[in-house]
Amino acid sequence: MSTRVIIVEDEVPLLEATTYFLQQKGYQVAGFTEAEKALESFHLQPADLIILDWNLPGVMQGIDFLRELRAAQQTVPVIMVTGKTAKEEIIQGLEGGADDYLTKPFNPEELMARMRSVLRRTQQVASTPSKRIVYDQIVIDLDAHRVWVAQDEKQLSPKLFGMMKLLMLNPRRVFTRGQILDAVWGNENVGEKSVDVHACWLREILGDQGKHVVTVRGFGYRFGA
Ligand code: CA
Repeated sequence: MSTRVIIVEDEVPLLEATTYFLQQKGYQVAGFTEAEKALESFHLQPADLIILDWNLPGVMQGIDFLRELRAAQQTVPVIMVTGKTAKEEIIQGLEGGADDYLTKPFNPEELMARMRSVLRRTQQVASTPSKRIVYDQIVIDLDAHRVWVAQDEKQLSPKLFGMMKLLMLNPRRVFTRGQILDAVWGNENVGEKSVDVHACWLREILGDQGKHVVTVRGFGYRFGA
């Protein structure tokens, strides 16, 4: 069965061009100019991926669409599209549960590369029975709480392990310091500096594999190239 994609985009020429491009590549595409209609359609027939324009003319904006989707426990991957390099929108989107983002104008080939990447990662997570993730020379066992680098076991504190797990479960996804704090420290009262300090330690422990813990200037961290 082909991958079903929902596109929400109010610029009709862009919607048509993207739809045509993806259909040519074998995707099944449903396009909408309003978020309300797209959400309705999604609940009737779920999609494998959603491409979401952030600024829409209707009452429901990209962020509202995403919130409703996540509130309904829908984990479908979402790639957000913003009008310009609007850093605040991007942070808001990533914190709202978007999996990746693109800024306009974008190259359709780049869109497709990102689609493949988020699809690969959601499918991987869904179909990994052993709960082990391998990336380059790093192996993490999520059940046993163990990490190896080039077959050499490394000792990680619970916080370091939590951070490693979050990043490795979501390769290429950018996390803000706030998101990492929420996920790893929960309600503990520590500042964002702790995230930077732990990222440093993590890199040190991972040795040359530490290069996969990437600082994304102005945003936070991601794992992998
Ligand atoms: Ca728009």
